[in-house]
Amino acid sequence: MGKRGIVIAIDGPAGSGKSTTARRVAGRLEYLYLDTGAMYRAVGLTMIRRGLDPDDESAAAGTAAALEFDFRSEASGQRVLINGEDVTGEIRSADVSDAASRVAVHAAVRRILVARQRELGFEGGIVMEGRDTGTAVFPDAELKIFLVADVAERARRRQRELRNSGVAAELDELMGQIRERDTRDSATQRRSGPWPASDAVSVDTTGLDVAAQVARVVELARERGV
Ligand code: C5P
Repeated sequence: MGKRGIVIAIDGPAGSGKSTTARRVAGRLEYLYLDTGAMYRAVGLTMIRRGLDPDDESAAAGTAAALEFDFRSEASGQRVLINGEDVTGEIRSADVSDAASRVAVHAAVRRILVARQRELGFEGGIVMEGRDTGTAVFPDAELKIFLVADVAERARRRQRELRNSGVAAELDELMGQIRERDTRDSATQRRSGPWPASDAVSVDTTGLDVAAQVARVVELARERGV
């Protein structure tokens, strides 16, 4: 265990509720929360702004190496800053999602970001969210969680989210999109190592609300001495 506590690695497919759960678990335990996906997104955004091609590995690695990341927790959620600028909203756009998934393919980029993530988690007391956090980043994490939920449930959650931002969407269509993204993610994954970690605890969140998901993960952390 690090000086500040254990390392908790959380992952799961799109719509499994991993971000909300990871953030709230960190809040409950007074741990740091690190959204590793935001770092790949920040690299993607910077490349778009500079007119660089996200498929260009050396340009992507150069961009990643030069970025200064800062994460700030506020009541409204976590803010992501790069070189001092708040890009929290901007990194969620569809263009940036696309660029992020392209830069995430490069081994040189992953080496740089994984090294940063290890520095941030070195003392423990952290909840890290992301696909390789329980394997490449912290293979010795004391608690690894893999959240799952069936496709229909994930589509319903997405529909609710969209409705809250004033967008109507058909459930069938959303289920199709989620299946597509699952297929693409597992293809990327096959190239980058085992997923999820073989010692991850699977938590099925189908039928669980956020509070129950958080309670379950906190209970697992307590069992590990937190
Ligand atoms: O999770 P999120 O959608 O924010 O991740 C942005 C992109 O970065 C995705 O394409 C995801 O697969 C990739 N990523 C990654 N390794 C991580 C976190 C995210 O390859 N640890």
